[in-house]
Amino acid sequence: MQANIVLLPGDGIGPEVVAAAVRVLKAIETKFGHTFTFTEELIGGCSIDKHGVALTDSALKACQAADAVLLGAVGGPKWDDPTAKERPEKGLLALRKGLGVFANLRPVKAYPNLTDASPLRPEKLTGVDMVVVRELTGGVYFGEPKGRDTVNGVTRAVDTMAYTDEEIRRIVDMAFKLAGGRKKKVTSVDKANVLESSRLWRQVTAEVAKNYPDIKMENMLVDTAAMRLVSNPAEFDVVVTENMFGDILTDEAAVLSGSMGLLPSASLGSGGPGLYEPIHGSAPDIAGKGIANPIGTILSSAFMLRYSLKLEKEAAAVEAAVEKTIASGTLTADLGGKANTKEVTESILSNL
Ligand code: NAD
Repeated sequence: MQANIVLLPGDGIGPEVVAAAVRVLKAIETKFGHTFTFTEELIGGCSIDKHGVALTDSALKACQAADAVLLGAVGGPKWDDPTAKERPEKGLLALRKGLGVFANLRPVKAYPNLTDASPLRPEKLTGVDMVVVRELTGGVYFGEPKGRDTVNGVTRAVDTMAYTDEEIRRIVDMAFKLAGGRKKKVTSVDKANVLESSRLWRQVTAEVAKNYPDIKMENMLVDTAAMRLVSNPAEFDVVVTENMFGDILTDEAAVLSGSMGLLPSASLGSGGPGLYEPIHGSAPDIAGKGIANPIGTILSSAFMLRYSLKLEKEAAAVEAAVEKTIASGTLTADLGGKANTKEVTESILSNL
């Protein structure tokens, strides 16, 4: 197949880990006889330095016209001034909006020889393999009204958690579809005992579940989910939840695997190019040293092969090669190893 992939390496370790993923994608291209065209654009701090904005219209247009977008990370101390008019994260928000991606998928897996890197006891990690599907464009981060007013010397701040049935239906449906290709279990997380938006969430989820009779569905309150993620994480398969709950739970779940450097993500909409990126930031403390863990970005490119390019065999090949590399103990410092980015990447290439 032919695919047009836009690369947004960004700042800090972003360019280092994206370069590693491109090496793996090029190996897949050769091995499986595909043609991938890579085009590079700026996002984040580097774009602010060159163009004064975190994402130019032409970079966004290139992404919209692509089959898929692979992003590294944005940000760093140079652009951290909270009073600055333009901040690197603005580019990310503009990109997600411009691509219409409403679902963020984050898998979390525990690898047997990395249990020492996790804060949980090894026996708790056996069988942990889940995907959290987080709603990305609705909920309290975007709901209106939002803002502050001061009346009689009392300042009040308001945020609004709002969802439409359609916004809920499309993400829950995506979670059920995903569960169909996995362990066939969906846990829908809400706060239906208190929030009206959660009661609508639960109602729509029950409607969607009727279309998937072979998939087990359970509702769980977000406070219970936060507890069960650390007390019994292996019970989860696909977790679907609204934006803010997902924001918090995905970071909690990420800790299980041992390092942020390991974890990929995919942001998907209905049609259009998907956005693939590791969950970590630009890691300015290690940028330029060649020691960043490339696995989160390499696994993000496997997600790209699976979800945007529909190349399941190729995606599985990348994931299997990463597992072999982890099992061989070729690890970067964040996982207690001594290997650098290049050595880990070359080990993955040799396992392909
Ligand atoms: P971070 O994820 O960049 O780093 C946290 C810690 O994890 C650091 O010690 C870092 O060295 C380590 N780490 C992260 N990725 C690693 C990897 N691949 N290999 C080895 N170690 C890794 O988070 P932070 O320090 O809070 O933020 C740094 C900058 O990144 C900030 O400017 C922040 O705004 C930005 N950020 C960007 C994104 C994004 O682009 N999506 C996400 C989070 C943070």
